[in-house]
Amino acid sequence: MLKILHVDRSGLFRKVMREMVMRTGHTVVSVAKSADALDVLASGGIDLVVTALELDDGNAENFINALSNSEAREVPVIVVTATDSLQQRECLFSLGVVDYMLKSELSEDRFRRYFDALVAGDELSRCMRALRVAVLDDSQVILSIVSRILSLNGFESCSLFADPLDLFKAEEGFDLYITDIVLPKMSGEQVVSRLRREHPDSIILSMSKFTGEKPLSNILLAGADDYIHKPFDAAGLMSRIKVNVRSYLLKKRLEKMAVTDGLTGLFNHRFSYERMEQECAKSCRYERPFSLAMVDIDDFKRVNDTFGHRKGDEVLVAVARTLKETLRTVDLVGRYGGEEFVIGFPETPLIAVRPAAEKLRRAIAALSLPGLSVTVSIGIAEYSCDETIESLVSRADSNLYAAKRNGKNRVEG
Ligand code: GH3
Ligand code: MG
Ligand code: MG
Repeated sequence: MLKILHVDRSGLFRKVMREMVMRTGHTVVSVAKSADALDVLASGGIDLVVTALELDDGNAENFINALSNSEAREVPVIVVTATDSLQQRECLFSLGVVDYMLKSELSEDRFRRYFDALVAGDELSRCMRALRVAVLDDSQVILSIVSRILSLNGFESCSLFADPLDLFKAEEGFDLYITDIVLPKMSGEQVVSRLRREHPDSIILSMSKFTGEKPLSNILLAGADDYIHKPFDAAGLMSRIKVNVRSYLLKKRLEKMAVTDGLTGLFNHRFSYERMEQECAKSCRYERPFSLAMVDIDDFKRVNDTFGHRKGDEVLVAVARTLKETLRTVDLVGRYGGEEFVIGFPETPLIAVRPAAEKLRRAIAALSLPGLSVTVSIGIAEYSCDETIESLVSRADSNLYAAKRNGKNRVEG
């Protein structure tokens, strides 16, 4: 949730703005004077300033100037005004205002977009600050400059290494490596390619005095994600880190999307199958039990026909949530098809799955969904090493159909 500071001498407009911000789910502090606004900013916690042009004790220009000389200089400012001129716009943008809006063109949508962008940026900064960083450079000066820039930007963990061998000896891995190209004992390329081999998912950023194409392309080919020229300043280093963290997070998000079902957030069919196969292999190798349940919603067609597809979707989401909440975190839950789910129970023999499936069946029957009741039928089976995963699924499926034949809302197997 964002905290917005609104500065405007019009009581009516402060009220309009307050209601608009509340509807977007954020909070707002409203004041009429720039002096009060600066006091609020000094106490911290403000994410965005929205100010009118004319204030009770001066104009926005003086206020923004005072703001940019204070501790709160990083807080973005939007100016809202009833009047407009090119000269005025130029003046405000040169003060570092992020946007300029006419009162007549204000819309909740536009504010929502701002707030969403701020929240996303905030998430990026939060993720960035939590990264574990290793910096490798044989120059103590560079090490201390980089570590100071990182700590000023809120990074919580930063380990410094002057010798590549010490970095490789470090027990824990890091999320972000910042390494020099010219090093003692090993070449920068050797360091990068070994880091890449040992930490395929980490971000590797190289620092180099070289400006020629060849050493830079070699370091990228060795596995670095990006490089930065020395000497660099804080803004240069931070922007490189930010760009790479953003793609790292996007990659993580894409990886997650590739294995999850969009509606329910459970594993999708393909990934469920892959995980079940792995569990079967582990079960044989370590001689541990593994069982499987197929769960199908009873008379789901009638839910759709009576209440519509949207309601049907809500029921699917509610059932998926109940499955997740009722089962252990080590159990694998996937959406196998339309209204059918698959559950893998590692380390569990059939005799222990029966009560778990019963508990699940009861939890779903007890779901309080206005105007309708939902039940499921469940077929269970325990894996045996001499069969394929297809045969395990098909045995659980036959038990599911037995449960349907025997009256639904029951467990068979
Ligand atoms: P039974 O008790 O024998 O399982 O009957 P049923 O009606 O549940 O089974 P049937 O296989 O005849 O129908 C399944 C229905 O599930 C048909 C389809 O419209 C619906 N369905 C499948 N996927 C979705 C979905 O993503 N959203 C919604 N709303 N409905 C879906
Ligand atoms: Mg069904
Ligand atoms: Mg079905």
